[in-house]
Amino acid sequence: MSALSELYQEIALCQQCEIAKYRTKVVPGEGAEDADIMFIGEAPGWHEDQQGRPFVGPAGLYLDQLLASINLKRNQVYIANVIKCRPPANRDPLPSEISNCRRWLERQIELIRPRMIVTLGRYSMAMFFPDKSIGKIHGTAQKRDNVIYYAMYHPAAALHQQSLRQAIEADMLKIPSLLTQAENISEAKQQPQQLTMFEV
Ligand code: URA
Repeated sequence: MSALSELYQEIALCQQCEIAKYRTKVVPGEGAEDADIMFIGEAPGWHEDQQGRPFVGPAGLYLDQLLASINLKRNQVYIANVIKCRPPANRDPLPSEISNCRRWLERQIELIRPRMIVTLGRYSMAMFFPDKSIGKIHGTAQKRDNVIYYAMYHPAAALHQQSLRQAIEADMLKIPSLLTQAENISEAKQQPQQLTMFEV
């Protein structure tokens, strides 16, 4: 059994938050264990909770289309969420849920070792770009310790707002060149608040 599958078993046993009681299935994440790109969304919704898989509802279908626009299939990337259980009525994740679940995401990143982490939406962005606004930094990349961090709008938000839709589609198209030009993106300084954003 792979280290990632063992991690999924551990995640399935987690009862640290109240919302674990109400889940149908836990949604750890899925995709290529050696993926170059890892997408991180917010939290499972109804469809994901039913199936135990990330991004399988309408936002997921849209994410599949966005991936296809850069010739990728979902099994060539890795897809996870900030929290692994569905919040009731799809409410926003609580700070306590985000901090309880953080260790799972950290382990996933350690095991997959992606070259690029793409945050989808503001909760995911906030874990890697603290104190930034998604309206300002979407479509910009930052390199730290040889990993490129890249913020995008959430596909569910983009589905319903034309201006965000144009932005997310344009931002997705920048990903292949960011990966090929990774060597040319200079390494950002240590403190996140001092980091420079790199427009592409
Ligand atoms: N929205 C998310 O953030 N994650 C999912 O898995 C589905 C919808």
